[in-house]
Amino acid sequence: MSKKVYERPVIIKQHSGLMNKFGSSPVQPTITEIDGVAVNNLVEEYGSPLFVFSEKQIRENQRKMLRIFKTRYPKVQFAWSYKTNYLSAVCSVFHQEGSWAEVVSEYEYQRARKLGVSGANIIFNGPDKSDSALETAVKEKAKIHIDHFDELYQLLEITEKLDLKANVAIRVNMDVGIYPKWDRFGFNYENGEAAHAIKRIMTSKTLNLVGLHTHIGTYIMATEPYRLAVLKLVELAKMVHAQYETVLEYIDVGGGLPSKNTLKGQYLDAEQLLPSYEQYADAITSPLFDLNLPPDELPTLFLETGRALIDDAGYLISTVLGNKRLSNGKRAIIIDAGVNYLFTSHWFNHKIVPAQNSGNFTENAAVYGPLCMNIDCLREDIVLPTQKKGDRLIILFVGAYSVTQWMQFITTRPKITMVMEDKTVEVIREDEDLEYIISPERVPEKLTSFSLK
Ligand SMILES: *Cc1c(COP(=O)(O)O)cnc(C)c1O
Repeated sequence: MSKKVYERPVIIKQHSGLMNKFGSSPVQPTITEIDGVAVNNLVEEYGSPLFVFSEKQIRENQRKMLRIFKTRYPKVQFAWSYKTNYLSAVCSVFHQEGSWAEVVSEYEYQRARKLGVSGANIIFNGPDKSDSALETAVKEKAKIHIDHFDELYQLLEITEKLDLKANVAIRVNMDVGIYPKWDRFGFNYENGEAAHAIKRIMTSKTLNLVGLHTHIGTYIMATEPYRLAVLKLVELAKMVHAQYETVLEYIDVGGGLPSKNTLKGQYLDAEQLLPSYEQYADAITSPLFDLNLPPDELPTLFLETGRALIDDAGYLISTVLGNKRLSNGKRAIIIDAGVNYLFTSHWFNHKIVPAQNSGNFTENAAVYGPLCMNIDCLREDIVLPTQKKGDRLIILFVGAYSVTQWMQFITTRPKITMVMEDKTVEVIREDEDLEYIISPERVPEKLTSFSLK
């Protein structure tokens, strides 16, 4: 048995009014391994900073969510939201689990096709679809979700020119009690635009209305907005049924379920604050039965799953570069991963935990990245045990949006690995190097030489 390290006793002032020893525990958990692979080994092998994804967690998240919805409603299909995380390996895990692809641009459409997803299994969203993107999507029988009237007319022209039918849905936005309203995408329900768009589609010979779509926002913290949204889509579906005797193939409720990540300004941890996924599923599925259709005519419920299924499967391992005292006496920890890799830290207080036992003395600290700019702050205030240079800190819940929204700024981006179910580790994206970054650049001939004195 190794001898315990002596620790000097300390007295910490408890501030009244804020949560203190009577509230959430200041003792931080330590994460020394990810799915059975030691963090130290990961860093030794692949460097720091390092993104790590857990194959096991992704599959578990997907299966659990699917079970929650399928027990409540008979026909459910998930489509993975590419923009949430379009790393090829991550998308492939979701496709192996049966998810279709949900894309919001021609680039994402091409990524899905390149991975082997057929057009018929792609949902094509977004307000910017070029003629060539639409032509491909029509030919490959993708589900095209129309965003606005100009796009509807564009698609009419394209399908008439190609003499092909397109499978379409419209995106609908509506008042669901969330303000500011997300009314810039799709056709508005309350002002009648959505019904008008449906009528225009139903009178065309080349557009085949197969579904209705909405995506009410992201990180929605209540269930009621979903219930209201589905009720309104159900009203439109009833109108289509009554006026055109058409039964829609699907109702697509989009994404937006929150992950366990905690928003800035949220006092309690997300896990204590948010409804359960079962409650969300109840709110989404129960209005569908109001369609009063025989079981075999019920539409498929599509969910465009995003952050809720990937956030807690992503880790960012970092290394402490140094400690400082700020002018106000507060401790500051500088680590080698900054907001360039974690755009999401503008909105979320990502959990940060030590990867080694650092003792029980904790202190409030600010955690900064290595960028030479003031905004490079990962946590303004977090309780952490003392960290030494070279210690590792792990940033949690970084699976959603970080590796799609990250930026390349003053340095290259690190490796991304995946811990596989059998505990082997695979590199799923190499780190960048100087050659990779400058290869698209061109220097005009007259600028190619200089001499400095
Ligand atoms: C971004 C997006 C999603 C996924 O949203 P999450 O908040 O990550 O669940 C789904 N559908 C559409 C149309 C989107 O734009």
